[in-house]
Amino acid sequence: MATSAFPGEKPDRLEEACAVFGVYAPGEDVARLTCFGLQALQHRGQESAGIAVGDGETVLIHKDLGLVDQVFDEDVLAHLSGNVAVGHTRYSTAGGGGWAAAQPHISAIDDELIALAHNGTLVDTKPQRAWLANEGVQLYGYTDSEVAARTIGVDTRRTGHIRSGIKLMMQQLHGAYAIVLVTPVALYAFRDPNGIRPLSLGQLPNDRGWAVASETCGLDAVGAAFVRDIEPGEIVKVSVAGLESERGIVSGRRASCIFEYVYFARPDSVLDGEVVYNARRRLGRTLAREAPADADLVLGVPDSGVPPALGYSEASGIPYCDGIVKNRYVGRTFIQPTQEMRQMGIRIKLNPLPSLIAGKRLVVIDDSIVRGNTSKKLVEMLRGAGASEVHLRIVSPEVTWPCFYGIDTDTQDQLMAANCTHDEMCERIGCDSLAFISLHGLHRAIHANHDGFCDACFSGDYPVVIPEHLQRKGFLQ
Ligand code: SF4
Repeated sequence: MATSAFPGEKPDRLEEACAVFGVYAPGEDVARLTCFGLQALQHRGQESAGIAVGDGETVLIHKDLGLVDQVFDEDVLAHLSGNVAVGHTRYSTAGGGGWAAAQPHISAIDDELIALAHNGTLVDTKPQRAWLANEGVQLYGYTDSEVAARTIGVDTRRTGHIRSGIKLMMQQLHGAYAIVLVTPVALYAFRDPNGIRPLSLGQLPNDRGWAVASETCGLDAVGAAFVRDIEPGEIVKVSVAGLESERGIVSGRRASCIFEYVYFARPDSVLDGEVVYNARRRLGRTLAREAPADADLVLGVPDSGVPPALGYSEASGIPYCDGIVKNRYVGRTFIQPTQEMRQMGIRIKLNPLPSLIAGKRLVVIDDSIVRGNTSKKLVEMLRGAGASEVHLRIVSPEVTWPCFYGIDTDTQDQLMAANCTHDEMCERIGCDSLAFISLHGLHRAIHANHDGFCDACFSGDYPVVIPEHLQRKGFLQ
């Protein structure tokens, strides 16, 4: 779905949290490899980018606001030489945005630097902040990633082993995390016990090293062969001793974010053994069976609506049409809108092709409805281009609950489906008909190698308990 193009304007969709990438490859240009990996993962966060490199002695870092290719140029990369690196692209959730929240987060354990990059959100860091204060540890910012890094530091200082610090963090902090961490000499990658956010392991050709990435498209970008997903609760370490794996915490209920398949992940990524593109196409077929429409053409809202639109077309026999064109060069970071620009709204990102759709009855496939404003603008735009009917079909169920696991959603009172009946939604959006895929249909269409998914934003079934004070803030009373 099209989101707001402007900072300060609340995005009208579930926003990705972040991407992480790590590589251990002595003798290689690890900063450049990380830069390539981050570019492939840019869709998961466009506010800031950063790379930290371990050069055997210390950790060097460069990070800034902006897209990966705005933050890194030849000169910067030339100063980041080493054997091991981690990188991050950010979309701010917990702890706000701005330079201070850009990652990797760097901290010192005695006189050794570590840098940590985190995708996800820790659900409640308040008690841990108090615990750290009690341990005499000072926090300098507001991010949950700093709380994680400082917690790791406490036990590492005591035991001399970073893995022991990571285990303590895993025991004391709860929520969603896929984290990569670099020291001067080693790479660590670990994942929360529910496996909410994805993290994949790959190997560079000819034994040149190892890489980890939020999605397999990041591994593909550096020529690394996908080996396996990092297991929920697992800690992987790569150093001169090779790759070592151990359990950091007993895994809990498997709860991979099901929304990755609908929207967040790139279609060429493989999650839990499933190619995302294939899952999206099957979602469209399922939707066609569950919510048929009498129409002349099927359109997908780029990009994530296109594969399901093709699936819908296959299953319904209604021809597919590329009737909406997306401008791929609209970033969100530095555009300062005028009021006039805001009114242009969606047209800056999406534009219809009147010559294809005028006078036609359209089935329009989109990934989700959050607040509903963008769907309304989309329908207005299509009618303005001459569509005679617009039937909206959504490849996710109604978003009725907020996400606390690293995805930016409104509080429940802002979610259209939590506050309106279908008829009211249809009327407000201005479409001729509206239907969503069922939760059952969503699960059935995904052929992953496990069936443990988080679907809390549709069902309210949260795999990690949401503390009461967050419930009071986020839920309708
Ligand atoms: S609540 Fe929704 S968006 Fe958040 S992790 Fe669960 S499925 Fe994903």
